Amino acid sequence: MPASGKSYFVEGELVGVLTTQPLDRVLDYRAPEGGCHIGAFVEVPLGPRKVLGVVWGPGRGDFDISKVRHVIRVLDVAPMRGEMQEFLRRAGEYTLTPMSAMLRLASRAPGLSNPPSMQKIYRLGHGTPDRMTDARRRVLEVLEEYGGLSFTLKELAEQAGVSASVVKGLVSQGAVDEEEAPRDLPFPPLDPEHAGKTLTEDQAAAVEVLRAAIQSGAYGTTLLRGVTGSGKTEVYLEAVAETLRQGRQALVLLPEIALTAEFITRVEARFGAKPAEWHSGATMTERRRIWKMVGQGGAEVVVGARSALFLPYRDLGLIVVDEEHDTSYKQEDGVLYNARDMAVLRASLCSAQVILASATPSLESWANAEAGKYRRLDLTARFGAAVMPEMRAIDMRAESLPSNRWISPSLQAAVNARIAKGEQALLFINRRGYAPVTICRACGHQIGCDHCDARMVEHRFQKRLVCHQCGETKPVPEVCPECEAEDRLAAVGPGVERLSEEAQAIFPEAKIATLSSDMFGSARALKAQIAEIAEGDTDIVIGTQLVAKGHNFPRLTLVGVIDADLGLQGSDLRAAERTFQLMRQVAGRAGRSEARGTALLQTFQPEHPVIRAILSGDEEGFWQAEAAGRREAGVPPYGRMAGIILSSTDAQEVFDFATELARRDGPVRAVGAQVFGPAPAPIARIRGRHRVRLLVKAPKGVALQAAVAQWVGQLKPPTNLRLAVDIDPQSF
Ligand code: ADP
Ligand code: ZN
Repeated sequence: MPASGKSYFVEGELVGVLTTQPLDRVLDYRAPEGGCHIGAFVEVPLGPRKVLGVVWGPGRGDFDISKVRHVIRVLDVAPMRGEMQEFLRRAGEYTLTPMSAMLRLASRAPGLSNPPSMQKIYRLGHGTPDRMTDARRRVLEVLEEYGGLSFTLKELAEQAGVSASVVKGLVSQGAVDEEEAPRDLPFPPLDPEHAGKTLTEDQAAAVEVLRAAIQSGAYGTTLLRGVTGSGKTEVYLEAVAETLRQGRQALVLLPEIALTAEFITRVEARFGAKPAEWHSGATMTERRRIWKMVGQGGAEVVVGARSALFLPYRDLGLIVVDEEHDTSYKQEDGVLYNARDMAVLRASLCSAQVILASATPSLESWANAEAGKYRRLDLTARFGAAVMPEMRAIDMRAESLPSNRWISPSLQAAVNARIAKGEQALLFINRRGYAPVTICRACGHQIGCDHCDARMVEHRFQKRLVCHQCGETKPVPEVCPECEAEDRLAAVGPGVERLSEEAQAIFPEAKIATLSSDMFGSARALKAQIAEIAEGDTDIVIGTQLVAKGHNFPRLTLVGVIDADLGLQGSDLRAAERTFQLMRQVAGRAGRSEARGTALLQTFQPEHPVIRAILSGDEEGFWQAEAAGRREAGVPPYGRMAGIILSSTDAQEVFDFATELARRDGPVRAVGAQVFGPAPAPIARIRGRHRVRLLVKAPKGVALQAAVAQWVGQLKPPTNLRLAVDIDPQSF
């Protein structure tokens, strides 16, 4: 099997083609006239259809050759490299995912199966239209929103919800420019010698180590740890620079699209040009261009979401996973993979370096560093005059608060003091919407989703009840759906919108901005809001998890956490780790410049060990204690786990099947693993499907995947029942 970047020619009459259809085997086809390369993207007949596939190797020819059909055509794109084939195979084996599904991940570039002929693209022009209509305004808004990106006529018209003639009308007025598609144009080169910042001694030492690693041209993973604001980004940008000097490509993964804009600006400042930006919001035209340019080396640096791991890099030399502990790196539907782990696998196959950056590493990465598998670099101080905030608890048992109020008198006083000095305060609550529960005061009924085992959350901003599992919405009813009492429905508990309302009432003079992912129709609106806050016009920022991640608000000196206990409820063994990470991260928003920050945590249990660890800032001590507990329990990272999620519309059927599967646990018991369950899955019903989970716990070092595959392979699920294997589940 070719492991290098070269592709190999298939000589024989037959080729083996892997298709994106769920068949799970490589099918024989007659090779095209003149043969073709292993890795070639082809179109082949399958039953009555034409489907996309990749020539996976020579054909096997183990049946009647006269029945074998012909490859229809070879697509005009570079063949898949052997290295990518190997990555898909290994990633598929690890996650127990069928190869057809892995191939779909790697051929997402739109237009692959049907490359468009040369076409026109559209971007914002300089002219103003003589007459502004709603339709015209929508087109211009779409173009503005996506900044420099360009659209095909069809994409633009669809996005704006107008007919193509509206766009053409704007072209004739010079308000929209029409050009030849640039999809074969490389991205502007990035200059590693463009003016960078002068590094501190700490930073320079870390950069030295990373540069040497990159120059070695071998695989290696580094955990780059340092409190928020310690300059990790500056350090890994220098690693990107070194990678560029070596003539190789770099990929930077970010956990949140909302962070991309700020990061792109930093890349541009460092390298004098923008990187390629890969995410779900990118237009088809743009994605096509990136896919192609990445393969040819015309895109040197890609910034993107986890799916950017599956782009066909010509020579990938560095993968940075920023905020490596972030749970959004785990894809939770379709192929269940963790982008952090897949980055390490990908890098090990192409002799690249990985940098995992975080202020609060996952216990997995911390343990890998302890075990010597990863190199560890620590940045201990914050950059410049900034120091870590002072952390204190507000003991809520001692505060007197009227019902339906969540900002304690102590927190209120602290906020007032900061505003009086012209500084900013952040109030953090990890709950979207207005109130988590809507309850009938007459009968006690709580409004739930019709399709999921979840309560509907009131969103006043949208004036609707929303299910956070399936997205279903409905109007807030006027009478109780259960007892039909009128005007007795009440909102219970705080969400970010309600907190905002409370803040308006108790800080009437303050300028308040509320940030929650669902409150912004577009990435542009969110970006604008963040920029406004950073520039300092706002006194109080109220936000959910969105604000915890990486934004830089220089005037912000106080962080108030409304409910520090929220994440500690429930039985999940990862709860302590998650709460620790989130609280430290939120606290890190305070005091990023000269003024020393303060973080105040409202809690009913200030003596809880996790709360104490957060307050003391003794990270090493916290990890040691967590590690000891996990080792004791034999769970990750000191043991292995897999979840089997079974779902069906028929609750009895799914439970019976799970029980039968649990009974036949021989193959997993043979490797020393145990099966727990069946039990309701963390979310017991989604979109009308009942979900049951079996958990497998195994000692480290056993061939868990093979045993699980053998185990679940014993029983064929009924047609209505779905089975998904989740290796390394997020919660256990
Ligand atoms: P982290 O990624 O660890 O949160 P950053 O790299 O974002 O930290 O650095 C925090 C702030 O300090 C940023 O505004 C950054 O530009 C600035 N900074 C970091 N290192 C330097 C340096 N050596 N010279 C000038 N500014 C720096
Ligand atoms: Zn629902």
